[in-house]
Amino acid sequence: MTKIEEIIRLKKERDAVILAHYYASSEVQDIADYVGDSFYLSKIAAKLECRTIVFAGVRFMGECAKLLNPDKTVLMPDARADCFMAHMIDNNFIKCTREKYEDLAVVCYVNSTTETKSYSDVCVTSANAVNIVKNIPNKNILFIPDKNLGRYVASQVPDKQFIFNDGFCPIHEHMRYDQIEKLKKIHPDALILVHPECNEDIVKAADYVGSTSGIINYTATSKHKEFIIATEIGVKYKLEQEKADKNFYFTETVPKCLNMKLNTFDAVLTVLRTGENSVEVPTELVEPAKKTLLKMLELA
Ligand code: SF4
Repeated sequence: MTKIEEIIRLKKERDAVILAHYYASSEVQDIADYVGDSFYLSKIAAKLECRTIVFAGVRFMGECAKLLNPDKTVLMPDARADCFMAHMIDNNFIKCTREKYEDLAVVCYVNSTTETKSYSDVCVTSANAVNIVKNIPNKNILFIPDKNLGRYVASQVPDKQFIFNDGFCPIHEHMRYDQIEKLKKIHPDALILVHPECNEDIVKAADYVGSTSGIINYTATSKHKEFIIATEIGVKYKLEQEKADKNFYFTETVPKCLNMKLNTFDAVLTVLRTGENSVEVPTELVEPAKKTLLKMLELA
């Protein structure tokens, strides 16, 4: 029996569905039942009817799937896969800010721990953050933990006052404007498509700012043939699958999230065999964190 055949057999045996983020490796995207960004995958996770979810992403994604499906088993291909940004907010900061501001909404990016979600009012992803923040009535917004996404949202919703903390995604933050500028000189006709987790200089240079799904949709419908892409390299696989006749340029210093890349084909096979790396969420956090997540699904 080949490894693929074994995965298919084990999926049936465990009644399992495999979800993979665009930043997971291409071999994992190939065996996944659903591939997408955090927003798409959380919507799928909320609707699944299987017994087991294998989540080829990072910990906060597995925890979201568990919060939305408390009766299901959620398995992570590699228990070490975690998001650095999710740990860049001190929950005391949230408490202090609540005391300081009236009419405040705490808006947390989905890339946050379950504990942070439990202290927040509503969750967002890069695909829906602007719409959700526009739709909440509060004047003051504490946007955590990504200052870059927060600053981008603030630029789109000028009538509200924003408070940020100093969190960021190291992969996006460390892409530099001069790398993008260099690519633009070599490929002057290329459009610059940027994820809002990138730093301000890059976002300002963009022809389009959006989530990974937004970037993929943009290239699929655009008449342009060349694109400079500022996001994690895993998305290249999907871009090229969708549009083989177009060219996509990434920076020389390849933006790679090593945590996402822990989701290998063999790791998926192993968890399906063993049932290890099951995600658990502390009982007392389940209700408050789930409420924050459901609020996102309601408002988006
Ligand atoms: S790419 Fe950045 S935000 Fe996404 S999982 Fe990796 S560290 Fe977290």
